[in-house]
Amino acid sequence: MELPSGFISKETWNKVLNYIALSDESPPYLLMDSQMVADKVSLIGKGIRNSKVFYAVKANPDISVIKLMHSLGTGFEIASEGELALLSTLNVPPEKIITSNPVKTFRFLEHAVDYGVSYYAFDSIAEVDKLAKYAPGCKVYIRLTVPNEGSEWPLSKKFGVEMEEAEQLLIYAKDKGLDPVGITFHVGSQCNNVYNWNTAIDKARELWESLSQKGISLKILNIGGGYPIRYTKNVADIETIEKKINKALKQKFSDDVEVFIEPGRAVVGDAGIFVSTVIGKTKRGDENWLHIDVGVFNGLMESIGGIKYTYVVGSRNDPMKWTISGPSCDSFDVIDKDVLLPEPELGNRILILSSGAYTISYASEFNGFSIPKTILI
Ligand SMILES: *Cc1c(COP(=O)(O)O)cnc(C)c1O
Repeated sequence: MELPSGFISKETWNKVLNYIALSDESPPYLLMDSQMVADKVSLIGKGIRNSKVFYAVKANPDISVIKLMHSLGTGFEIASEGELALLSTLNVPPEKIITSNPVKTFRFLEHAVDYGVSYYAFDSIAEVDKLAKYAPGCKVYIRLTVPNEGSEWPLSKKFGVEMEEAEQLLIYAKDKGLDPVGITFHVGSQCNNVYNWNTAIDKARELWESLSQKGISLKILNIGGGYPIRYTKNVADIETIEKKINKALKQKFSDDVEVFIEPGRAVVGDAGIFVSTVIGKTKRGDENWLHIDVGVFNGLMESIGGIKYTYVVGSRNDPMKWTISGPSCDSFDVIDKDVLLPEPELGNRILILSSGAYTISYASEFNGFSIPKTILI
């Protein structure tokens, strides 16, 4: 197999090939390169003054991955009692945990308050009422809607409010005894438009200013996640994005404002390599189909939302076009179309690059195909 350029280092590639050659583990499984995760953890946030990083656990909640991040000192962003339980097994201190899900379950709130988590997002009156009851006096930030154009996985429809409502809600939260500390937004996941952060920061600034005139002085700007990774095409690198964000922050906010960042995909995405097997080849009309043992339901759910992966096979045949499908009997289980690949043999390995985020965490055992193991190398 040949290393495609621009994805992973020679060292990582060698680690992957060695693991495949020497291990008894049978595919499919997800390899996670610990060095790449560690590198991302030390990189993200470095370019943004007065910032703290909270890894969005939903991107990849594998215990070995979380343990590694905890040992490196990262904080965590969570949304459920399951994610909290995971962190509690590692004794992650509550100061290292925030929750930015604007609508939380009652059970999660009970567990989070009990654990000592103190930062909560919200975007409705009902949530303020709920927080006032279950987490009296807690610190809250409002989720503001911001443009998600150019993001491959938009997140702006479900959550967030516009300026005027945001202002009223923060005031309402204060009246209800909560501590309104800040503003949060999410530019959309896999955000390929660096200007989204600028627009969002401008908008947050306006709200910040208007609240300060009404006697509410905020302290925290939570810029959410959204940093992109390379799937097939090049993306802006983290240094460039953070430089732009930092510049905007400098212009619009004073130095003592604390910045929270909640990256998910960018921390774990490109460190993940799925090892899968070619289980069938068929011809449907004039389409050539390649059937593999990882699909939409047991790992590659994001493919139906438009994420296109890069595949690697060992074959030296001339490249041809494939429709790639997963192992289940559901006709939804098609991962990609028009993928150029040399024809592999049945039983050959097929590697799927940049598959460390939103893969195993989405996987189900639909149709009896087990969820692939995650192995940290
Ligand atoms: C999912 C999520 C993130 C992580 O987003 P990425 O695009 O993976 O970086 C951050 N914050 C919140 C509130 C989220 O829901």
